[in-house]
Amino acid sequence: MYFECVNCNTCIEANIFISVCADCSYPLTIRQNDTSTLLRDSQIVTLGEGGSKIIQLSKFARLVGVSKVHAKLENCNPTGSFKDRGSAMMIGAIKSAGIKNIVEDSSGNAGASVAAYSASAGIQADIFVPENAPKAKIDQISVYGATVHRVPGHRDNSEKQAKQFVSENQFLYASHNTSPYFLEGTKSFAREVVDELHSKMPDHIVMPVGNGSLLISTYLALKELWVTGKIGILPKLYAIQSDVIKPIVSELHNIEWTFNPKQITCADGIASSNPPRMKQILQAIKESKGDSISVSEDSIQRYRKVLAQSEGIFMEPTSAAPFAGLETLVEKGTIDGRDSVLIPVTGSGLKSPT
Ligand SMILES: [Zn+2]
Repeated sequence: MYFECVNCNTCIEANIFISVCADCSYPLTIRQNDTSTLLRDSQIVTLGEGGSKIIQLSKFARLVGVSKVHAKLENCNPTGSFKDRGSAMMIGAIKSAGIKNIVEDSSGNAGASVAAYSASAGIQADIFVPENAPKAKIDQISVYGATVHRVPGHRDNSEKQAKQFVSENQFLYASHNTSPYFLEGTKSFAREVVDELHSKMPDHIVMPVGNGSLLISTYLALKELWVTGKIGILPKLYAIQSDVIKPIVSELHNIEWTFNPKQITCADGIASSNPPRMKQILQAIKESKGDSISVSEDSIQRYRKVLAQSEGIFMEPTSAAPFAGLETLVEKGTIDGRDSVLIPVTGSGLKSPT
């Protein structure tokens, strides 16, 4: 099995200790069509992730003026977010290599997920989180037995300190943002959409995007199925960001935006100022003919309540961003009212109750 760098086309033999390209530092990706030798079933660490239900949101669809909206309930994964799909495969690979200590940095959801799968695999995890991450997420990481390192300042500081800790202790840096295994594991989301909706594939998939693992993996999985004729259309993919932190919107539309570490978004799961896989994020949006827009803090909070009070779905603020974004995309005419849309509910409201 091989890792490839989509930035400079370097290809190396898969190695659990290497996640970024030695030539250009871009995060590596498992070479397409190279996954049959990935992990044997017995090597995957599982807590029952995946298989999330898809439900129709009739009242929300009427509210925003779209004929059909489906939600895939990723909040029902074992630790309450879609990250479990990636963690299962990444921790399985790490366990297979006999590694006993790992380090991760996260805004919360990935940290909790990696902590849970590490506990199951008998691996000690050190998780670096922003000091202002929701208390419920930090508590969750701690209860799984991981060592929590709370880092003052913006999310990016957690990554810096985690990398420093890795070099001081010679532990494995198991970053969900750069691990080829994590990205590969997350592909199961899109495959399940195809299995369940198949001939009724949505015209558009709208999701919150910070570092882009779900967006990129969805694009890769759907493209594999599209080029082999297993699906008839490639849904358009949309990356929704907050007005406060919007590097993807800025890059895609060539809009000037400067990161201000003092500005905080309620959508903490997408508070990434510099996504390491930016090239793949832009490719997923452009090649699927999608778009990226940002939404206000007020609209995120408003739609969080709308979904809870009209459809009974309790999601964290990050997950409400695409619902707010859909309203804007319909108003702009980017999405036609006759089209169908799928939105993943990426994380549980219990992670950020207030
Ligand atoms: Zn490279």
